[in-house]
Amino acid sequence: MSSIPPRDYQRLLVKVSGGYLATDQRTIDRARLDFVVEQLRPLHEEGLEISMVVGGGNVLRGAKEKSLGMNRSYLDSMGMLATVINGMALAEAFRGAGIASAPYSAIQMRHDNVRNWNLEEVRTFTAGGGIPIFVGGTGLPFFSTDTGGVVRALQMDADIMIKASRVDGVFNKDPELHADAELIPVLKYADALALNLQPLDQAAFALARENNLPIAVLNLGTPNVLERWYRGEDLGTLVCN
Ligand code: UDP
Repeated sequence: MSSIPPRDYQRLLVKVSGGYLATDQRTIDRARLDFVVEQLRPLHEEGLEISMVVGGGNVLRGAKEKSLGMNRSYLDSMGMLATVINGMALAEAFRGAGIASAPYSAIQMRHDNVRNWNLEEVRTFTAGGGIPIFVGGTGLPFFSTDTGGVVRALQMDADIMIKASRVDGVFNKDPELHADAELIPVLKYADALALNLQPLDQAAFALARENNLPIAVLNLGTPNVLERWYRGEDLGTLVCN
């Protein structure tokens, strides 16, 4: 057991990109789903209130689909639906592991397996130990699920948003291109702007900063990263005011 005190958080919102659920072979990979569930499980067992936002980039990103020759708003609608599919998969993986979970959509839907976003209902669900998966982003085109994550984190009164990353946090330069890139353990929002570092897209960044929402950028691929971080280990980057 670590002697470092656990972090003082009760409510977390975890944002996972759609790409995280995919492999080269599969758009949604069972092992990736289960890995996410196992990362979250210790914090859930700890009694933390957890909610999640999932992206849709494994299927479609509106801004990147110019070759389809469709307008951006239409493509974004498709992207938002992609997040619904991911959320359904993730919720089912949680349920399979004995943890109550359901996708809650920002896009109004009439669907047996998807619930419509409703703050009261979601609060009751998390208070009862469920993990809601927020899908459909903000419900509006021209936004991202990072922005959806910040909005939902604020609506849920989350203490912090965790952004699952493929790398260990925010670096002074791209660690996938530069071997000498250095991890920044604590990054002030003002410095992120000054250094032109982008832990979130601009709209999400502005909203988080304005509302004083801290963001922990963690490499979800690191075994037990969430539990170790929660127990106080110095992992990832904390972005805050
Ligand atoms: N999207 C949108 N509005 C939102 C959130 C998402 O229109 O509020 C669309 C947009 O086309 C986006 C796609 O859904 O590219 C998938 O979301 P995102 O790119 O954020 O997913 P991630 O990269 O996190 O997997």
